[in-house]
Amino acid sequence: MTNDIKKVFRNNGKSFTGLRSSLLDILGAASSPLSPKEIRDSFSLNKPDLASIYRNLSLMESLGIVDCVDLGEGFKRYEISRPESHRHHVICRSCGKIEDVHECGLQEMEKKIFRTTGFKTEKHRLEFFGVCAVCRK
Ligand SMILES: [Zn+2]
Ligand SMILES: [Zn+2]
Repeated sequence: MTNDIKKVFRNNGKSFTGLRSSLLDILGAASSPLSPKEIRDSFSLNKPDLASIYRNLSLMESLGIVDCVDLGEGFKRYEISRPESHRHHVICRSCGKIEDVHECGLQEMEKKIFRTTGFKTEKHRLEFFGVCAVCRK
């Protein structure tokens, strides 16, 4: 996987810097999408400044290496892009807990979009908001 990612950087004339490598390690180890601040907090030493984290994340988003997730918190979260394991997310509006949702029932809708508009969709985003089991007690 690392070699594939390095290739994406190289093919786009970008270098695979230490910071980019660390950002991908941190996102790869996370169980849910992380905010730039959480990513920064994961560095024990030499914390990079938020501006360079944002800049590198948006570069990697444009290269298709990471995906951006907006859970309506007023900031974006990021996760490693894994087209082979497409998923959505659900966030608890009380405690902020985030879970992956692996079911996706949108294929029918994409077919319908194709039939009615002629657009071949490449991706979609859909997030769910609610209250988790613990907070409902
Ligand atoms: Zn909760
Ligand atoms: Zn989906």
